[in-house]
Amino acid sequence: MRLADELRNMDHSLPAFGKPGERDRDGEIEEMTENGAGPAATVFAAPGRYVQGRGAISGLGEELKRLGSEKPLILRDGALVEILGDLSVQGAVTVDFGGECSPEEIDRVAGRARDEGADAIVGIGGGKTIDTAKAVAHPANLPLIIVPTIASTDAPTSSLSVVYDEEGAFKEYRFFGRNPDAVVVDTEIIVGAPVRFLIAGIGDGLSTYFEADASSKTRTPAMAGGAPTLAALTLARLCYDTLLEHGLAARLAAEQGAVTPAVEKVIEANTLLSGLGFESGGLAAAHSVHNGLTALEGTHHYWHGEKVAFGTISMLMLEERPTAEVEELVDFCLEVGLPVALEDIGLDGVEREELEKVAEAACVEGETIHNMPFSVHPQMVVDAMLAADALGRQRRALLAGEARLPAVAT
Ligand SMILES: [Zn+2]
Repeated sequence: MRLADELRNMDHSLPAFGKPGERDRDGEIEEMTENGAGPAATVFAAPGRYVQGRGAISGLGEELKRLGSEKPLILRDGALVEILGDLSVQGAVTVDFGGECSPEEIDRVAGRARDEGADAIVGIGGGKTIDTAKAVAHPANLPLIIVPTIASTDAPTSSLSVVYDEEGAFKEYRFFGRNPDAVVVDTEIIVGAPVRFLIAGIGDGLSTYFEADASSKTRTPAMAGGAPTLAALTLARLCYDTLLEHGLAARLAAEQGAVTPAVEKVIEANTLLSGLGFESGGLAAAHSVHNGLTALEGTHHYWHGEKVAFGTISMLMLEERPTAEVEELVDFCLEVGLPVALEDIGLDGVEREELEKVAEAACVEGETIHNMPFSVHPQMVVDAMLAADALGRQRRALLAGEARLPAVAT
């Protein structure tokens, strides 16, 4: 179903006039009648500016000037030194990122910013570098510019950081209530990175519409702090349609190092549409399954968006989406090269007890899985993952031309 049809079917009455709700322990929505609480406000959050294009990074100095910065601290991924070349940003102090967005690393970079008297923070790199830059800039009340060098997540535009422990296991979300002042996306740099990052970003972006759609039904405030606006739900749907329509063409072009209109569209979907869609539309089961999966060592070699892709298929199984819709998603993942089965994310031959660990972690209090419009228990998550895995393997066999049909039952 494309955007126009979907908009017609959307429940437009939800955000503005819904009763404000609060989730109790069983996941039921309880009406808030105490203290004269009014209808839940809708909130839409976005960065101050979004600049995307070939060579866009050359405008970084201008963006800093616009913010009145004379002594920015540039936090960059050390592996990018050659790719970035001389950025020639006047008065800048450069700090190499330590590799993990952990509380220790955030404190270290914040200490440097204080010592150097930095008046702005620039984060240049992948999702973890970006999230660290946010966690340094916002508490210090410093202007922030984000320059993603890969399009592997929708982290650049949002106001939150995902914090991991030093071993790479998910630890917490940190919310800052402020979005970056500018996001500068140089598509030439992004296409110069391994294509796997772009594909992972597509995996992250695929979840946005389904999670916003599910969580809008519960009227639970999204990360932006209120119920979803129509704008957020529409951008989330546009993200999904853009990825399905241009994802494969973008992959093929990016593999050749080509910046085509399809590549530009997919980078915008991965970064801007997905970023605005998730932050103001809400997360749900797909990201909780991702967070749960990080509890298993085998998944640590896979990117956020790759695990989110599998989490999205699991979520669709959990909420009993129509078969055609699930198959459309799974087939697209296979076509573009995203995980559809447990074996694709380092969990070949995984035991049920291990999946129970994943499900328990996905269902802890505060997880976005409780934004689903029904109560979710860990056993349901295990079964959804197993069902997603079975369907993913089945569709792969079918697309590969192998008929993997069950024998006659005896
Ligand atoms: Zn994500």
